[in-house]
Amino acid sequence: MAWVTAYQLKMKINSLRLRFSIWVAVMLLVVLGAFGTYVYFTMSRGLFLAFDDALALNASQVIAGLEINNNQLFLPENLTESPEKSDPHLQATIRILSPDGKTLQTSGSVFLPLPDLESIPSFTTWTDPGGGQTMRIYSAPVSDNGYLLAVVQIARSAQLEQDTLQRLLTTLLLGSPILVLLAATGGYFLAARALAPIGVITRTARRISATDLSARLNLPHNDDEVGRLAATFDDMLARLDDSFHRERQFTADASHELRTPLAAMQAILSVIRERRRSPKEYEQALDDLAEETARLSGLTKDLLLLARGEIQADLHPQLVALSDLLNDLAESLRPLAEAKNLTLDAHIPDKLSLSGNSDNLIRLFVNLLDNAIKYTEHGGISLAARAERHSVVIEVKDTGLGILPEHLPHIFDRFYRVEASRTHPGSGLGLAIAREIARAHGGDIQVDSDYGKGATFTVRLPAL
Ligand code: ADP
Repeated sequence: MAWVTAYQLKMKINSLRLRFSIWVAVMLLVVLGAFGTYVYFTMSRGLFLAFDDALALNASQVIAGLEINNNQLFLPENLTESPEKSDPHLQATIRILSPDGKTLQTSGSVFLPLPDLESIPSFTTWTDPGGGQTMRIYSAPVSDNGYLLAVVQIARSAQLEQDTLQRLLTTLLLGSPILVLLAATGGYFLAARALAPIGVITRTARRISATDLSARLNLPHNDDEVGRLAATFDDMLARLDDSFHRERQFTADASHELRTPLAAMQAILSVIRERRRSPKEYEQALDDLAEETARLSGLTKDLLLLARGEIQADLHPQLVALSDLLNDLAESLRPLAEAKNLTLDAHIPDKLSLSGNSDNLIRLFVNLLDNAIKYTEHGGISLAARAERHSVVIEVKDTGLGILPEHLPHIFDRFYRVEASRTHPGSGLGLAIAREIARAHGGDIQVDSDYGKGATFTVRLPAL
């Protein structure tokens, strides 16, 4: 039980949504931290600049109220501030000092420190040791004709501004964690919603076994990243399922095809061994066995070629003199045609060449010509080639039986044989191999047939 909980905990910690919400929280914390610091310092600067401006304005008003005559300063009766500032916190303390630091007149009871006469006009921040409040003091010179007559000091408590800043700081410090928490929770639930299909994909992938690829996600078709992933996953499963079935079918067909010559060989052997036979009968039996062995060996060769994907692997393209190759093939297969009273004409222009594997190309055209001879009883076969813009087109045309339209889409499938052809030897692999060779060369093969009149196989291969 304990390990299950530990495992579940580990799964939770490793979950993408938890990491996503932690990322959101950290990012937001950093952004809020930077933003809060910026707001706090901009606000503080703005407040204190306005505060200092007000102090400086006050001082200039007081100085404007002083009467100066002939280097003589006449002090006003009393120093009072504008009446609206009744709040004691806002009330300014005004003091006029003589150049040697003696207080000439003062409006308040706060004892202000003496300014540094060298550096006036100046602003200083000072904490009243009696009341404990922080005051901002502005000291400005009063001069006439270059003579310093007095110093005016205006001081006011910065309590209000400090309170404002304190409230801002509290709001930022309390509000930020709440916002971060809300965003992290929201992020967690949003990520959970967005990633829910991934869970379905994981469960489906677990359910799929090597022998059953029928499971599908069937998620609603959303055109987002996860939707596309799910669709791709379903497509991949469909392709795997399809190729798995085709492979299974191929294995079954292959075993079936291999069984036929083997059964024939067993039958020949058991008949021949029933009793003593004449040398002639043994000879005949050996001939029959040799025929079946050749069939078996041809079949296994074809099967291996298709099953191992050797056509692709064998490609090693070289320059192939196609005109010579086709002429030679026509030459060597003509006796086979003539044995059936058929003609075999070749119309091959000179100097056709392409890049490919000559062994495989020979196999392709032998299969087509061999079929043409096999499935034609009267007339003849023509082998023609021509160069087009980007390809070389080779046509094998016969005047044979032709192929019914319903068979046309299937004749390139492995082991597909038209029922009527069963009287002829064959395995149904010839055209499948021909098509794989054409495709391995970057080309393709097509068939066209007028049933009863003949068939035309057209191979299109990329030109050099
Ligand atoms: P096989 O010839 O060994 O039966 P193929 O794969 O070469 O196998 O051909 C598949 C089927 O296509 C043949 O069984 C035959 O019915 C048909 N076919 C192929 N070539 C021709 C042709 N030239 N004329 C008529 N039918 C053909």
